[in-house]
Amino acid sequence: MGMLVGQRCRLGGRFSRCNDPAEETCVYCGKPFCARHTYVLEGHEAVCTSARCRAKRDDLVAYQEYRRGVLARNHAGLCGVEGCVPHPAHECSLCRGHFCALHVRERMYPFREGWVTVERPASVCARCWDRRKIWRGA
Ligand SMILES: [Zn+2]
Ligand SMILES: [Zn+2]
Ligand SMILES: [Zn+2]
Ligand SMILES: [Zn+2]
Repeated sequence: MGMLVGQRCRLGGRFSRCNDPAEETCVYCGKPFCARHTYVLEGHEAVCTSARCRAKRDDLVAYQEYRRGVLARNHAGLCGVEGCVPHPAHECSLCRGHFCALHVRERMYPFREGWVTVERPASVCARCWDRRKIWRGA
């Protein structure tokens, strides 16, 4: 925590840069930001108020909750989807949850490999499939 010496907040529009003294660097976009443009500040997790970074942070929190729910249902021998059937036989290759045949699909998923995105077939649950848009082209 504390001021980043000599750094200025880089949030705001292209022609309306904030320019207040920066206090943190965003873990997602890497831009320095000021107190006014702080969305989350918890330990080492500093997130700015840009729409893309807020979406990522919100998704991460919701996703952790989702994974806890899937794990709990899997422990009870159920598909990861709330209210679904027993005996989940298929694993989502992203969240590692177990699901019934209806709730995991083989899809071409865009994996980040360094600077490029490579589409490869993967078994993916609906929740993991939905969040790819938020994280694509980080
Ligand atoms: Zn950011
Ligand atoms: Zn600012
Ligand atoms: Zn999944
Ligand atoms: Zn299911």
